[in-house]
Formats: sequence, structure tokens, C-alpha cells
Amino acid sequence: MKHIVIVGGGFAGTATAAQLVQQLEQPVQLSLINPEPTFLTGTAYQPYATRLLLNVNAAKMSLFPDQPEHFVNWVMTRPQYSNLPQHFVAQAFLPRALYGEYIKQIWQQTVHAAQSKAIKLRHVPATIIACKPHQQQFLLSMDNTQQLCADIVVLANGNQLPGNRVLPDASFARSTFYLQNPWQRLPETLLNNTKPVLILGNGLTMADTVLSLRQHGITQPIISLSRHGYAMLPHRHNGLTYPDFSTELLAATSLRQLVKIVHQHIRLVRQLGISAEPVIDAIRPYTQQLWRRLSGADKQRFLSKIRHLWGVARHRLPLHIHDYLQHLQLEGSLRVYAGKLVQLQQQADGVQVQFIERKSHQQHQLNVAAVINCTGPETDWRNLPHHFICQMLEDGLLQQDKFQLGIAADVDSFMVLNRHGQAQPALFTLGSNLRGELWESTAVNELRSQAQKLATQIIKQLSVT
Ligand SMILES: Cc1cc2nc3c(=O)[nH]c(=O)nc-3n(C[C@H](O)[C@H](O)[C@H](O)COP(=O)(O)OP(=O)(O)OC[C@H]3O[C@@H](n4cnc5c(N)ncnc54)[C@H](O)[C@@H]3O)c2cc1C
Repeated sequence: MKHIVIVGGGFAGTATAAQLVQQLEQPVQLSLINPEPTFLTGTAYQPYATRLLLNVNAAKMSLFPDQPEHFVNWVMTRPQYSNLPQHFVAQAFLPRALYGEYIKQIWQQTVHAAQSKAIKLRHVPATIIACKPHQQQFLLSMDNTQQLCADIVVLANGNQLPGNRVLPDASFARSTFYLQNPWQRLPETLLNNTKPVLILGNGLTMADTVLSLRQHGITQPIISLSRHGYAMLPHRHNGLTYPDFSTELLAATSLRQLVKIVHQHIRLVRQLGISAEPVIDAIRPYTQQLWRRLSGADKQRFLSKIRHLWGVARHRLPLHIHDYLQHLQLEGSLRVYAGKLVQLQQQADGVQVQFIERKSHQQHQLNVAAVINCTGPETDWRNLPHHFICQMLEDGLLQQDKFQLGIAADVDSFMVLNRHGQAQPALFTLGSNLRGELWESTAVNELRSQAQKLATQIIKQLSVT
């Protein structure tokens, strides 16, 4: 019996398993490897702070691309939502923990469906530490000292923790006052402290962290420091859709032309007093196509000049969360700076911070209780020397994409490219690993389609091996 191993049992791994079980007509062994605490939920859907919400409305969160109402229908069966109008629920930003429950339910259903098809489906609570070719298979080593042989491997390992490159001195990473993982439980030292908390970064993770700190009773001031300090945007025009202008977009032959077209449309809606968000949302279904058409030089230009602005326009907050953050800023308990971090020095009871403000060049010095890294996931595998993907990179089993955003792959077949650029028929990937190939490859609506197509591809591959 062939053995398929999925490394990572977050959303992408679970959706791939669900699709495989739906589509398979032959018995196989199917193992999902994921350490227990994040199994099924990944980092995104197991928030310990219940105030954290999905940043996409419920209507777009079904796990199955061909059943778009699947999530909303499931929500309507829950007692706390069943008395609400369904179209209201569909437009709402629901709790992320609720979405975690949804994935767990799908896993249970997948386990039952597998039993009825004689598919041996199991979860292995472990972390993969190495993956090597072994005869015609792959040999995977786990942190529990056990090993597995696989005929097909799917890399669904998702996002990494934020990178430490942002720290002026790498040794600060060992400080007890530093949290590299912004989703971990807050240490006790923070709870009984009056000094401010410094958050590095100014995006959605910063917003999550502010909400978590306040929910856990941490009332001291919060300071956010990022290079640009762009103001986050809310989902202001929820439900207002701008007409599809993809024909114009797809006819553009350069980044410059694309930017010009988008600006023309934004100017049009602004005449009506409406901000750019509906225009940005209309581009969203085409971003992968647009990215793939750009030349290497234009992709590089996008990454160095437009990436952060695009990120702000694209990753928005539910309106009431945005209002709450604005309120904190107005009362002065959240201060947002654009600037350059110069020094982080551990003291007996906290950290001394120095940074230079971007516009005024003013130097600031302050003492904080802790520093939390919210700068976004590390994507360059060379900075993660202990990760099994880095080992595979060194062994030539895979290569990074040109922009060090993930793994090089053939995005039509999901096959990973080896050191020589050859697609490997038994090694697949999806999700964040494809960021360099597709740019947008992390949200549920992208991952669910990838999982469906990948399952079809794997089944095709099983028939030829
Ligand atoms: C805080 C947050 C909020 C988000 N909110 C939304 C939202 O509202 N809507 C939306 O569409 N998208 C959202 N996203 C995007 C989100 O990344 C995707 O929706 C999706 O959860 C990603 O799933 P994944 O399986 O690719 O990655 P992950 O969820 O990161 O799962 C990967 C899993 O692989 C495991 N793993 C990693 N390495 C190994 C290894 N070596 N061995 C074994 N297991 C391993 C990890 O433990 C993890 O459980 C959010 C992301 C974050 C971080």
C-alpha cells in the first residue's frame, strides 16, 4: 500500500487530506505529521485570546472550493449563531477559535470517510527534522527518534516564526524579555509590570498582539515600531464590490502600467468619496496571475517599492477592531512610530531600547518590559539552519525561489524543483512555500483550491508509480 505523508497538519495539510480522502478510489496509507498543540489549527486558528477574529468574512472561509457556503452553513448550526440572519453571519468577521473548531470537525468527518474507504488515515504528533531520499522513497526522521518511509511527501509546513534579522544584535534573541513568537502565551513577567511593551512591526500581527495584551489585563502603554509605520486600514466597505477590470489588468505588460491602471480606478471611486478598498479587492482574484506575468525585474521592483503599501491595502482589519486601535492611539496608550531600531539592551528588569524616528531623525530612548516580534514570518530558509527544509535545501532536494520567499516549484503540478530545476514527481508543496511563485498563497481561498488540485495531482501520480 502506498504511503502519502503530509508534513504539517494546519489548514493546508488538513484540506489536502480531506480532498485526498474524497477523491481517492484506492486504499492508501495517509499520515499527517504535526506536533500536538498546533494540530489542525496551525497558529492562525487556535488563538488563546478569544477576541481575535478572522480577517476575512465568513462567506469566503469555506474549506471546500466547490461548496462556498460550507463554513457559513456549519456556523448556522451553532446555537449562538442559529437565530441570526444567515446573510449577516456571512458578512461577519467571526472568532478565529471558532474556525479552528470547524477544521477539527472536518478532520473528524475525514477520519470517518477514510474508514469507509479503507484508507489508513492517522495523525502522528511529531515534528519532522529531516527528509532524505531512500531507495525509491523518502525517509523522514521525527523529533521522537522514529522514522517513516513515504512514497509521496507533501510539504504543508506553513508559516515560520518572525525572523530575528530585525534585531540590531543577534544575541538579544536569547533574552528572557524577548518574544520571537507573538502567538505564545504571555509570560508572567509582563503581567505585573508597569513599563511599556515594545512591538516590532505594525501589521495584523501587531493588532492581534495589542488585543491579546489588553484581553489579558496588560494595561501599560504599547509602542509599535516599524520601518514605515503605515496606518492600518479597516474593511470599510464590507459587501460593496467593484466591477471586474481584470481584462485591463491582464493586458498590462509591466508593473508600471499595472500601477497606472489601478490608480485610475482608485481615482474613479474617490470621486464618489469611496476609498480604494473595493478596487483592491477586485484585483485580489487575479494577483497570482499578475505576479506570474511580471518580469523578474518588475517582481523585484514590486518587492522593494510596493510590497508594504500593497500589504496595507490588502491585509485589513474588521472595522470595530480598527476603531478600537484608533481609540487606543487617541488616548495615547498605543503609540505607533516609523523608525530604525538602533539598540536593544537587556537590563535586570526589562530592556533599554534606542530608535531613530524616520521623519524627524529624533533619537528615542525608553525602558520596556518586553519586546515582541510581529514583523512577519521568516521566509529565507538559510536563516533557519535547524529546519528540515534547510537540510533539504542543502541536500539539493529543493531550491529556494528567486526571491527567497519560499520554495521553487512547478505551480501547475505543485511538484518541488530540485537543485537542478527538475520537478520531482513524488515531492509536492502548497501554501506559504509557494509565495515566491504566486505571491498570494496563504489565505484560505487560495489554499483550498490548491489542496483540491494537489489531491487530484497526487492521485494521478499514484497511478503511474
Ligand atoms: C494569525 C493569523 C491569522 C490569519 N487569519 C486568516 C483569516 O482570517 N483568513 C484567511 O483566509 N487566512 C488567514 N490567515 C492565513 C493563514 O496562514 C491560512 O489561512 C492558513 O491557516 C495557513 O495554513 P497552513 O496549513 O499553510 O499553515 P499553518 O497554519 O502555519 O500550519 C502549518 C502546520 O505545519 C506544522 N509544521 C511546521 N513544520 C513542521 C514540521 N517540521 N513537522 C511537522 N509539522 C510541522 C506547524 O506546526 C503547523 O501546525 C491567518 C494567518 C495567521 C498567522
